[in-house]
Amino acid sequence: MKLVFASNNAHKLQEVRAILPEHEILSLEDIGCHADIPETADTLEGNSLIKAQYIYDHYHCDCLADDTGLEIEALGNQPGVRTARWAGEPANPANNRAKALRELADQTNRNARFRTVITLIRGCKVEQVEGIVRGRIAEAEYGNGGFGYDPLFIPEGYDRTFAELPAELKNTISHRARALQALKQLL
Ligand code: IMP
Repeated sequence: MKLVFASNNAHKLQEVRAILPEHEILSLEDIGCHADIPETADTLEGNSLIKAQYIYDHYHCDCLADDTGLEIEALGNQPGVRTARWAGEPANPANNRAKALRELADQTNRNARFRTVITLIRGCKVEQVEGIVRGRIAEAEYGNGGFGYDPLFIPEGYDRTFAELPAELKNTISHRARALQALKQLL
């Protein structure tokens, strides 16, 4: 089955193709879509749906789209949908991490989770799955691997951040990996 993944992120495309080898996964580039699809919803579910619905409406093909947020318990699950641009425009991972450390400066509760929502549209059927990895926000940045908030995020059951742990390990326990496993069950 052909499926369009509403992304041009090479790393994500490779992850999706690896987990769904029986499907032909096309990128936005592959279908000639250069639109900057507006992510205007206030939930991960909403934004993931907007992206998938846009592809379905304009290209009439089966498709999937993801959206991820970091949810910090002591901050009422912020930054959530604002994760990528939490410290302002343009998106800046170092500033985002500095903001997380500032916001949690006096907090003993450092529980957090990454949550990925994937929307799948097949025919006109819309389905959503999620993947969650629980953990906590470190007191400072550790490690050079990964991206985004990885130097701050210590997954449950480990004492090192995603940026310190081997990429192969992160790729089996991450929010995205878990959402993709759930998607595989659905397909
Ligand atoms: P997206 O929806 O996959 O683009 O993710 C939104 C934002 O969440 C990214 O810009 C990153 O700041 C953050 N993020 C998503 N996945 C990860 C991860 O695996 N590690 C660290 N940060 C992540």
